[in-house]
Amino acid sequence: MSISQRLKEITDKLPSDVDLVAVSKTKPESDILEAYSIGHRNFGENKVQDLVAKYEHLPKDINWHFIGHLQTNKVKYIAPFIHLVHAVDSEKLLRTLQKEALKNKRTISCLLQAKVAKEESKFGLSFPDIEALLAKKNDYPNVKIVGLMAMGTNTSDQEEVKEEFSAMNTFFMALKNEEFKVLSIGMSNDWPIAVDQGSNMIRVGSSIFGARNY
Ligand SMILES: *Cc1c(COP(=O)(O)O)cnc(C)c1O
Repeated sequence: MSISQRLKEITDKLPSDVDLVAVSKTKPESDILEAYSIGHRNFGENKVQDLVAKYEHLPKDINWHFIGHLQTNKVKYIAPFIHLVHAVDSEKLLRTLQKEALKNKRTISCLLQAKVAKEESKFGLSFPDIEALLAKKNDYPNVKIVGLMAMGTNTSDQEEVKEEFSAMNTFFMALKNEEFKVLSIGMSNDWPIAVDQGSNMIRVGSSIFGARNY
């Protein structure tokens, strides 16, 4: 199956209120253009250098999502154009986003990354840490915190992933409002579970573009 066929197969199954970020990391620009040619506009990358190169070469109406761990010293390279930063996991990063957004005379939208997976992952905030950051959001007027992001445990135990996503959804729903409305959970192997548990943004790479060779 081609990229556009696989993409269409997934989008056809998605409820209309769920956005699909096509994760194009490590993949060539020609792959992105194939998805673009059938109308897809949301793409995700996790390396600043790759993202900037692709942004420069590809059509300017693409919405670029930064989905990985973002180092503060690299924010300046993506601040002029980034559509959504998915994984804000520290107040330091929030401060840097504020500074660079102001420099570029724009507002940068972001999600706070929650840590729900049982496996040891380096990044992500606890629910109390997220509440503490949200209480300070007025200190960052050029940053718009529009929701939450998380990664489920990488396991074949569907019940475990379901529990993690369900906990995310419960926490998200208690905070949800006009501005804070995005729940970014679900990847190639677990997006149907995530959508069942209330996700409205999934990040899918290998199911669209094929396996990655690093
Ligand atoms: C790579 C990546 C994805 C996509 O993973 P697939 O399993 O290829 O769908 C989603 N989210 C994040 C944060 C990633 O790094």
